Amino acid sequence: MSAVCVYCASGPVEQRYIDLAADLGTALARGGHVTVSGGGNISMMGALAVAARAAGGRTVGVIPRALMAREVADLDADELVVTETMRQRKQIMDDRADAFITLPGGIGTLEELFETWTGGYLGMHDKPVVLLDPFDFYAPLRGWLEDLSTRGFVSRRSLDRLLVVGSVDAALALIGPGDAAEGVG
Ligand code: AMP
Repeated sequence: MSAVCVYCASGPVEQRYIDLAADLGTALARGGHVTVSGGGNISMMGALAVAARAAGGRTVGVIPRALMAREVADLDADELVVTETMRQRKQIMDDRADAFITLPGGIGTLEELFETWTGGYLGMHDKPVVLLDPFDFYAPLRGWLEDLSTRGFVSRRSLDRLLVVGSVDAALALIGPGDAAEGVG
């Protein structure tokens, strides 16, 4: 894998979540991966990109023009793609990614998680879809989905398409080595 799209919060959240995003950014850079994100320089999104660059990694931000002020466009990104619509943003993020990792986040993050996950189990792509959940942030959602599976609304195969892990190292192991691994770090 080479480019990894990360979905995470854009709002004010506890420091441990900011640190998690930074740890992932560092690990992606050291693993030779390009980090693709929503192109904001706030909250977890910002911490992810700043840490990735600090560790020598390349970052690509994809942000709709209308959100550039609100999400503080990451002007330091190695590549900042400015789109006219949210749909274009998501398409470009998807196209650029070889794998997806979702961290704790709000409605926007959830929307992106479900879109990549459903695309995966419907066979629209074969990229890893990873949920990195060391603090059991998603435990209520995962419990509810298990219940939906028991009641026949969600197949076990669909549930299993989402790779849930509890550490940055485990997430990196699932996506494999990056193309630029040599000489980075
Ligand atoms: P949130 O998880 O709500 O903090 O949002 C995280 C990121 O998802 C932010 O960059 C939002 O702009 C983005 N976002 C919100 N809604 C959507 C959507 N419908 N499609 C794609 N990204 C979105």
